[in-house]
Amino acid sequence: MVSSSLHQLEVPTPAYICPYDQACSYLEEAAKELKLDQGILEVLSHPRKVVTVSIPVKRDNGQVQVLAGHRVQHCDILGPYKGGIRYHPAVTLREVSALAMLMTWKCALLGIPYGGAKGGIAIDPKLYSVDELERITRRYTSELIKDIGPAVDIPAPDMGTSAREMAWMMDTYSVNVGHAVPGVVTGKPISIGGSRGREMATGRGVMFIVREALIDKGQSLVGTRIAIQGFGNVGSAAALLLHQAGAKVIAVSTGSGGIFCEDGLDIPALKAYAAQNRKGVVGFGQTTPISNAELLTLPCDVLIPAALENQITEDNVNQVQASIIAEAANGPVTLVANQLLESRGVTVLPDILANAGGVVVSYLEWVQGLSYVFWDEERVNKELEQLMVQAYRQVIQKSLDRQIPLRLAAYTLGVGRVAKALSDRGLYP
Ligand code: NAD
Repeated sequence: MVSSSLHQLEVPTPAYICPYDQACSYLEEAAKELKLDQGILEVLSHPRKVVTVSIPVKRDNGQVQVLAGHRVQHCDILGPYKGGIRYHPAVTLREVSALAMLMTWKCALLGIPYGGAKGGIAIDPKLYSVDELERITRRYTSELIKDIGPAVDIPAPDMGTSAREMAWMMDTYSVNVGHAVPGVVTGKPISIGGSRGREMATGRGVMFIVREALIDKGQSLVGTRIAIQGFGNVGSAAALLLHQAGAKVIAVSTGSGGIFCEDGLDIPALKAYAAQNRKGVVGFGQTTPISNAELLTLPCDVLIPAALENQITEDNVNQVQASIIAEAANGPVTLVANQLLESRGVTVLPDILANAGGVVVSYLEWVQGLSYVFWDEERVNKELEQLMVQAYRQVIQKSLDRQIPLRLAAYTLGVGRVAKALSDRGLYP
């Protein structure tokens, strides 16, 4: 294991799977495959910058609460840092650091000139009013003002954040620098320079990758039985697009539980129901309630974990029945579970490929913003499809050429490109 100051930051509990150690393990595996120079591996194992800021916020009842906001910038060898902002109670500096590293490999794999970053605040946004969330987001942005910018670090939405938070970030940054700077964030509303197609982009990318994997097995989306954990931005978009393409989405869930319907769910109606219902999807139509644990082990063709990390572990991996798992979330399959699935011949479509649609369209949004020319949705979706399918094909080819699993193939491509750039640029001084 390479050394890292992050390994000393928080004390793990016994059952705890450290996301940063897990990310470093994947990097080390790729480094072995690439026969990477030890010095380059050391550089890539450490985030370039780790920032934690205090966010004092006045609650609506007048009390002051101080939150911790993180931003980790992993590597900017290929271009500005890029990565989402997560509002979720489970956010830790280790998790944010692992996700920042993942972003570096993801951008390189997709051929996008960005480096990886991630940010987050450990809050449950459902427990805060809209006004409180706005105050939190604006203070967090202003604390990070010197560390972000369109040529420096470009945040985007992630779990618990959306176009609304990006608009607040863009406005706060712009007011502070004295002029409108749309390029400081992506995933913002179309009214202030957002891209058409961005909202559905990650889910659309998942759909393309699942479609390609089925084609490679001589199958198609039509009639394929799919279970999706998480019905947020990514999960609900993937569900809708897969449903529209003829797949049978038989189960979905949110943090409040899931539902199952043997004949397939009416996803457009379910989306409308979930938007009105604070308890998520439970209670919709003629469906059977199921737990999140049950959803993961349902008999189905494709399983799409689109919520949190570490959902498929040593404890439940033997009960998983899907023959394809598409990691729409970041890190939903643990390292050990991944090895067990591979040995059983289950196709695991790795996160840095499967959920890259969001960053691809973020990149397209940034390009449109820089050129002041805005595209229609058809063009955005076409460019997205081309980049996703190209990356998928490269991963499959690498996997076949080297006889290695898809995740290692994806990491080898991503890490290899960053390592090559680092070696070409050289170390300063
Ligand atoms: P979101 O907040 O919009 O939705 C998350 C969903 O997960 C919600 O339905 C929530 O109820 C559900 N959930 C929360 N806790 C759960 C639990 N314990 N069990 C089951 N479901 C639970 O978030 P999102 O933007 O859809 O992101 C989901 C995942 O996709 C995250 O891992 C994120 O990092 C990843 N991702 C998101 C994007 C993006 O563009 N939004 C891009 C790449 C990767």
